[in-house]
Amino acid sequence: MPVSADVAASGPAPVVDPFGRSISYLRVSVTDRCDMRCVYCMAEDMIFLPRADVLSFEEMQRLCGAFIRSGVRRLRITGGEPLVRRGVIEFMSELGGWLGRGDGQAGLDELTLTTNGSRLAQHAEGLHKAGVRRINVSLDTLDAQRFREITRVGSLARTLDGIAAACEAGLAVRINTVAMRGVNEDEFDKLIAWCGRIGADLCLIETMPMGDTGEDRSDRYLPLSLVRARLAARWRLQETGHRTGGPARYVRVAETGRRLGFITPMTHNFCESCNRVRLSCTGMLFMCLGQDDAADLRAPLRDGATEDELLHAIRQAIARKPKGHDFIIGRRDRTAGVARHMSATGG
Ligand code: SAM
Ligand code: SF4
Repeated sequence: MPVSADVAASGPAPVVDPFGRSISYLRVSVTDRCDMRCVYCMAEDMIFLPRADVLSFEEMQRLCGAFIRSGVRRLRITGGEPLVRRGVIEFMSELGGWLGRGDGQAGLDELTLTTNGSRLAQHAEGLHKAGVRRINVSLDTLDAQRFREITRVGSLARTLDGIAAACEAGLAVRINTVAMRGVNEDEFDKLIAWCGRIGADLCLIETMPMGDTGEDRSDRYLPLSLVRARLAARWRLQETGHRTGGPARYVRVAETGRRLGFITPMTHNFCESCNRVRLSCTGMLFMCLGQDDAADLRAPLRDGATEDELLHAIRQAIARKPKGHDFIIGRRDRTAGVARHMSATGG
């Protein structure tokens, strides 16, 4: 059963960064590739990494094991689109072996996934068998034409089939929606009502300036403080202290009984409670989504580092975790923020 991040971990004490934050959450990007090209995430003509640069699943397994022994209790698999990589379900099943270990042992409290849903119909049951109980599915609109415009190549029907299969398989679903001015801001009421009907939570996300997507994102940026005020005029939003270990702050929508989350890196900096680091598919460890600094864990791994040497490299990297991100929307430079794409680090 998923365990809330508020519950004290029972294994090794997590590594603590210089600002006193315990790092108990790892996001792993298993691929930079994707079968969609969302306008806020990728350029249309993305060039993907050569396969030799990408860690094998055996290598990822070793690194994940080292993080779990360093006190990580929650692990999210992401990408690019994680379900496009062959063998990902087997990889996750192996990681699932860490779930449910208690009594002071290293182990995981939760294994989760973020996906665009395009291949969820095939994989929902496999994910459940692997020990996954909760997933995030990205969906910015319920309009097929608009979905195609935002994802450039995706199919709304496939993602909806995937979501239905996930619910059927017993996975709790949270829908992630990037809020974009003039694109989907007229649909939030509809999305809230739809999530209520299918029994999913919804989380709205502010657009972050990451990577050149060929578009000027400052036009699209929509502060969620504004959205929340608008929604409060239509729905009864009840405060809740619910946290899932991520950056979302939740309210409950009284009319639907479902949670509505807000991820607001731009209007409300959430860095002070940041408990996570991100491993890219090439083995670079990013201590902050909004900074360029990264520690190369692939080099020691491929040089035959021992378990202790890997643990040492992880501790040294976490000691470099910065206080917060430097995102600014509205600079004239389209790439303002960080140069790499969200798909490189994993959202
Ligand atoms: N492909 C999967 C998906 O779309 O869910 C997983 C990876 S995707 C990079 C993870 C999340 O990052 C998605 O919810 C996506 O909407 C979000 N995302 C991507 N680029 C973003 C940006 N520039 N600002 C805010 N969120 C972004
Ligand atoms: Fe692919 Fe996810 Fe990025 Fe969209 S947000 S392009 S689905 S990685």
